[in-house]
Amino acid sequence: MTAEGHLLFSVASVVMVHQLQISPDISQGDWLHLIPGALAGALLPDIDHPKSMLGQWVRFISVPISRLCGHRGFTHSLLAILTGVILFRTQLPVSWSVPADFYQAVIVGYLSHLAGDMLTTAGIPLLWPVRWRFCIPLLGSKANKRAERSVALVVLVASFYLPAHWEVWWDHVRELILAQISARL
Ligand SMILES: [Zn+2]
Repeated sequence: MTAEGHLLFSVASVVMVHQLQISPDISQGDWLHLIPGALAGALLPDIDHPKSMLGQWVRFISVPISRLCGHRGFTHSLLAILTGVILFRTQLPVSWSVPADFYQAVIVGYLSHLAGDMLTTAGIPLLWPVRWRFCIPLLGSKANKRAERSVALVVLVASFYLPAHWEVWWDHVRELILAQISARL
């Protein structure tokens, strides 16, 4: 996915987390924190690539990481996702004075980046350091900005149509599945 695709997808993802009220910090958050947080988070995973947008700014970090883990290595793995989920559920110490909504938006942006890379044929090494790549290649192999924009738009539009509460949404899905199963019995 291109940098532009990642940025759009991360903003759409934060809107979705906001609308689905997955986290009170984000659903009551300030958009002036949420959007910059999402954008920053979307760029973070490619810090392992010296030619990426963020990698170029902080070459002293990106060069060693890319030598050590390679591009789409640790930063694109299940370990990174789990770390993200744990951090998402962790309250920051008040003394850090980082707004909770900004911090959580960074994590949502980060996770959206990995989801975005998974949509390309290159995939991501979920089981890193094992090199297997996992993908759901909706976006194909070439950078296709139009397809990337469409995916972000679908997520954005879906955020406004899905029921606001995550649990309610999940109940709907479960009912639908159970109805399908009982119809077949
Ligand atoms: Zn990436």
